[in-house]
Amino acid sequence: MNQTKYIFVTGGVTSSLGKGIIAASLAKLLQARGYRTTIQKFDPYINVDPGTLNPYEHGECYVTDDGAETDLDLGHYERFLNVNTSQANNVTTGRVYLSVIEKERRGEFLGKTVQVVPHITNEIKERMQLLGHSGDYDIVITEIGGTVGDIESLPYIESVRQLLWELGENNGIVIHLTLVPFLAAAGELKTKPTQHSVKTLMESGIKADILVCRTEHELSSDLRQKLALFCNVKQEAVIQSIDASTIYDVPNLMLEEGLDKVALKKLDLPEKNTPDLKHWNEFLYRLKNPKHTINIGLVGKYVELQDSYKSILEAFIHAGSANETNVNVISIHSEHVDSDNMEKRLKGLDGILVAPGFGERGIEGKIDTVRYARENNIPFLGICLGMQMAVIEYARNVLNLKDANSTEMNASTNNPVINIMEAQKNITDKGGTMRLGSWKCSLEEGSLASKIYGVSEIEERHRHRYEFNSEYKEALEEAGLKASGINPDTGLVEVVELPEHPFFIGVQYHPEYKSTVANPHPLFVHLVKAAVANKAKAKQA
Ligand code: GLN
Repeated sequence: MNQTKYIFVTGGVTSSLGKGIIAASLAKLLQARGYRTTIQKFDPYINVDPGTLNPYEHGECYVTDDGAETDLDLGHYERFLNVNTSQANNVTTGRVYLSVIEKERRGEFLGKTVQVVPHITNEIKERMQLLGHSGDYDIVITEIGGTVGDIESLPYIESVRQLLWELGENNGIVIHLTLVPFLAAAGELKTKPTQHSVKTLMESGIKADILVCRTEHELSSDLRQKLALFCNVKQEAVIQSIDASTIYDVPNLMLEEGLDKVALKKLDLPEKNTPDLKHWNEFLYRLKNPKHTINIGLVGKYVELQDSYKSILEAFIHAGSANETNVNVISIHSEHVDSDNMEKRLKGLDGILVAPGFGERGIEGKIDTVRYARENNIPFLGICLGMQMAVIEYARNVLNLKDANSTEMNASTNNPVINIMEAQKNITDKGGTMRLGSWKCSLEEGSLASKIYGVSEIEERHRHRYEFNSEYKEALEEAGLKASGINPDTGLVEVVELPEHPFFIGVQYHPEYKSTVANPHPLFVHLVKAAVANKAKAKQA
């Protein structure tokens, strides 16, 4: 077996420079050249995983097939590469310490004093090489969260330093992402923050091999030369990362800058073929040359922070391109919708998505929104909590069970149409204990769901504790709300739909996690399609 090669991506100057997108774009190019590539993210916070974090803190919690609750950057990796990630692709300081402390309790350190160096760093190094040792990859890209110089990043930086030494020359390189700010008053781009950040990295014994410089303006050749000289890299290794109109432009921008070629040269790997980005560029062309425009209302309670619904927004971009449609997603706070104002708030929408979520806040607005979509024949997709709200709405307004609710919101309701799952009843710990990851679902023949997917058995990713209460299945179905997708092993209702409606579907799982550029998710593709049709019909009327 050939030696797996390692690329480490660190960040300097400020956070939010888009390390995840640079890592994903480089991986895309290497993959398109024929290298088996994966990406992993190491996060310096003490939560064992982001599952317990409020979306306002850290954006969406992404879920993998194997049920890991992870950083949202893993979503970008999957969307760019169309390759599944897993628990091993996201490691946090909390997970590292937990594992070391558990080993200490088992007596595995044989009476030694357990220390950051070497015990924590060894644990980090082991995890950094886990995917590499599987033999499945030629290149493993490791993104180190946070900014160089942060106290909490230190054990990771030290682990990278040790690993580079152990791997030997040409087997591991460091890409350092920095900011080259433009000072309007001076009319100049400034290199000093980058110089300082490279110096900080050097103080920890790491020399950056490649600099990726985020900038709002083109870097001149003089400026690149200056950066090269003062940061100790070749000029070809000074890569400009200029602001782009879409993140999906970044692989092409990195190709133009030669990031993949410089990385391969440093790793002593052949360039192989020129990257084949045909499908990618077709996707981009359709995205940038839409024939239609539609408005989709995204109704949820975390709408103030774009990152909270990252995968949903990206899935709409994929589905928009597939339909040659510009999907204008309008975020609507569910707390601001009620039965008196919904006509005003939801008017003009060509389609509606009611978002996933937890807890009571804003749910009445979600229920009113479902009603509006149902009664006005507006294409509707409800995801997880959104599906549960669709069931409650139908029970309340069609079955006339006025107090129908989820026991998550009202534990003593007389009509718990959504109930806590049996397996969840005795769980008290919050971390990693939901029904997570990929589960099978059988779709009823002839249903909207089976038409959308084009197959009768699917697997989708989950993250929930409550479920459709089967005791109400018969009554709801008789009244018109069909359960068209069922888990074949447990009987749990995964999909509900309204055959009487042009497009009304609620899913207990999260389709957004599986939408990629190469495989836009069929539910989003068909929602957008239905919304385009709905708009055309409204125009005719
Ligand atoms: N709060 C709901 C549950 O736990 C829905 C979860 C979600 O939307 N991800 O079942």
